[in-house]
Amino acid sequence: MYTKGLLIILSGPSGVGKGTICKELMKKYDYKVSISATTRTPREGEVDGVNYYFLDKDVFKFKIKNNEFLEYAEVYGNYYGTLKSQVEEELDKGNNIILEIDIQGSMQVQKVFKNAVYIFLLPPSINELKSRILKRGSETESSFNLRFSAVSEELKYMDSYDYAVINDDVDNAVERVNGIIKTEMSRISRMNLEKFINGYVF
Ligand code: 5GP
Repeated sequence: MYTKGLLIILSGPSGVGKGTICKELMKKYDYKVSISATTRTPREGEVDGVNYYFLDKDVFKFKIKNNEFLEYAEVYGNYYGTLKSQVEEELDKGNNIILEIDIQGSMQVQKVFKNAVYIFLLPPSINELKSRILKRGSETESSFNLRFSAVSEELKYMDSYDYAVINDDVDNAVERVNGIIKTEMSRISRMNLEKFINGYVF
């Protein structure tokens, strides 16, 4: 009944819990989440091809030149990007796919995908955000400062998103994101109802 899959963009400040929400959405509802490429070094426990494709800067730049990215951006001093191959095939198959990307990337996607669903994830408070980044234990002092100082600038772009979800509790936030996706899938403009209605017998 759906012609194409739905592209869902999930953005928000570093440490807000985008990764956790995506993991739960995959586990609980079988959503597909695009695996991004990055030049950042892997954190402990991160696996190449699972969390990210970890690339050398030269390889990343080659892929930029080769037009392989749907979007890419320099975020907190490293390159991150969504490979077209990750997205196009899934959408063509009618599958929904989630991009967990930063605001600059979202702006680029908005130029190409007017029909995508843009969701901004918010922390319940600034103090909570601070403690979540610190608890992760993966940032140096300078990388923490870089991420934290970007927050107020990032919040200015919230108006260009369709929905805001406050991540006060993971289960609640997951339900709200799932609710948004289900609602968006019921939009008449997204459904191919003609064939279905033609099958009605009056
Ligand atoms: P982290 O280093 O914490 O994994 O990610 C840092 C930031 O990069 C996060 O805001 C995350 O959403 C963003 N990010 C991850 N993948 C991509 C991507 O493919 N494109 C863009 N533009 N941002 C990304």
